[in-house]
Amino acid sequence: MAGRLTIHPMHKIILKAGREKSLKRRHPWVFSGAVDRLQGSPGAGETVAVQSRDGEFLAWAGYSPDSQIVARAWSFREADTIDAGFFRRRIGESVAARPVFPGADAWRLVHGESDGLPGLVVDRYSETLVAQITTAGAEFWREAIADALIAVTGVKNILERSDVDVRELEGLPSKVGVLRGEVKDEPVVIEENGVHLSVDLWRGHKTGFYLDQRDNRALTRQVTREYSHGADVLNCFCYTGGMSVAALAGGAKSVLSIDSSGPALAIAADNVKQNGLAADRAEWMEADVFQALRQLRDRGRQFDLIVLDPPKFAPTAHHAEKATRAYKDINLLGFKLLRPGGHLMTYSCSGGISADLFQKVVAGAALDAGVDAQILRRLGPGVDHPVSVHFPEGDYLKGLLLRRG
Ligand code: SAH
Repeated sequence: MAGRLTIHPMHKIILKAGREKSLKRRHPWVFSGAVDRLQGSPGAGETVAVQSRDGEFLAWAGYSPDSQIVARAWSFREADTIDAGFFRRRIGESVAARPVFPGADAWRLVHGESDGLPGLVVDRYSETLVAQITTAGAEFWREAIADALIAVTGVKNILERSDVDVRELEGLPSKVGVLRGEVKDEPVVIEENGVHLSVDLWRGHKTGFYLDQRDNRALTRQVTREYSHGADVLNCFCYTGGMSVAALAGGAKSVLSIDSSGPALAIAADNVKQNGLAADRAEWMEADVFQALRQLRDRGRQFDLIVLDPPKFAPTAHHAEKATRAYKDINLLGFKLLRPGGHLMTYSCSGGISADLFQKVVAGAALDAGVDAQILRRLGPGVDHPVSVHFPEGDYLKGLLLRRG
């Protein structure tokens, strides 16, 4: 039964000789190719002990029989017991590690592997938590996790947004629904950097909003402010207009925002209104950014600040080549649309593209656009999205603030 401690002969995964190295470096994943044999008969999500060929204890891990990542470590300490108390402690540590974000009531509480909780993401949106469970191991402990979240945060309402493709690889169905308390199917208004933003928790991307970009939205506002006569801003892949609101709040003269999602744009326009910002300075375009940038170029449009925050083009290094071409394309067009002295804020949230590679792509784009550019800042997610030093895969979001020469 899910989450209940059962008495059973210990289930074990015994690794092939030499394949214990990555667990010893505290990387939490066990790939099926590293497994020599399985002892016992663990069900999906049950806890297994992972041992080296020589019988050395390596980790307690959640078993994922259908996945190529056959187990993910909960703990590297043999003395630990993986039970409801374990989740309460670990979630408690994770929540306690988050600082207070001034002018914000929404942030990430649990960030998967980087918080020692593979397969679990939890975001707080004011008085509602949104949980996303992506592995058999986390699914097995779902009820204990929900209880721990309530006990630790005191928040009573939890929505589950386990509707992500990766669940398929784990043999888990897509699931959206109330996990605890009451969560109405209506927009939740959060505060971020002192502005108010509506979030559709039930249907929005990820858990509803891109909380990882909070600091960078604040930076958008700050950079916009540097233009004392008002900046013309282009916000590409604007989603619900977080960056657009930031630019308007920073005094932008005009903000053109582009996204392919009609529902996201409708929320974005509302977000401008509910912050009392001049709607006549905001222009919305429902379009494919790749095409829209070409149209803008052909019409000779120019901007002072351009934000490029596309979806992840390369989930893994496998897709890096194709993704690289896409990043090059939009950044090249971005540089062409930028006035001399203008700023480009450009991002990649692709796990498969390193910060190094991203910088090279952007440099290539500037070269082909025939412009010089300086990097003013290297950007990443906020501190509520930490990256474990043992889990480089967690380092997905990277960005650059550039100034065109
Ligand atoms: N900057 C946003 C987050 C962007 S997420 C924020 O601060 O909240 C990426 C967005 O790109 C999504 O809203 C998605 O609808 C949009 N998108 C994906 N592919 C697109 C395309 N080819 N053209 C336009 N928008 C696209």
